[in-house]
Amino acid sequence: MTKSPLSLPSPHGGGEGQGEGRTHWSLVICHWSFTVATIGVLALQGDFREHREVIERLGAAAPEVRLPKDLEGLNGLIIPGGESTAIVRLMRTSNLLDPLRKMAADGFPMWGTCAGMILLAKRLDASGVPALEAMDIGVRRNAFGRQVDSFEADLHVSALGDPPYRAVFIRAPIIEDVGPAVEVLARLADGTPVAARQGRLLATAFHPELTPDHRFHWFFLQEIARQA
Ligand code: GLN
Repeated sequence: MTKSPLSLPSPHGGGEGQGEGRTHWSLVICHWSFTVATIGVLALQGDFREHREVIERLGAAAPEVRLPKDLEGLNGLIIPGGESTAIVRLMRTSNLLDPLRKMAADGFPMWGTCAGMILLAKRLDASGVPALEAMDIGVRRNAFGRQVDSFEADLHVSALGDPPYRAVFIRAPIIEDVGPAVEVLARLADGTPVAARQGRLLATAFHPELTPDHRFHWFFLQEIARQA
């Protein structure tokens, strides 16, 4: 089958030939809501390319952010997974730390995934380097130790609906405590929070850019459109 350039996948995942109706409607809705949405992806280190691909598939623009000038004209920003200590160092040397801290404090929509979640947190374990300190969560890095460096888990996320969301965790952090303004969006089976939001800030301990299920990216885009 030849793919037309407009043959976008459904945010619910699934391959070609599956859920054609939904694919069509997501395309229409994307087109309607996100014609001008521009979601910057912090591109200093880590898996920013995968995030860019998903955002572009969903119909929005996803420019790389490496310098303060790249922050102009954005509707939202994704801070990808990678190595949080390296990313914060590069934020400093690229003169991005102060502008990003200010934007986050002023309520600009940001989504941190894995290392990105660490960078958004107000409280970190002793191994962490404070970065944006915007979200009222306490985060512990590498919380699963070496024995389970990486794993997948099905999460029930009411904000996404059914089916359960299969999340990929890679040397993942966890959320240890949340302040009153924070809503927990997903927990592991033992109750550990692994996704949360506070106003327009979103944090996930796992990697939604590495799975075919694009509902978290879709959710971020929808929230930006809704709150614009
Ligand atoms: N362990 C990394 C850190 O602490 C995060 C891992 C990831 O982003 N996959 O920065």
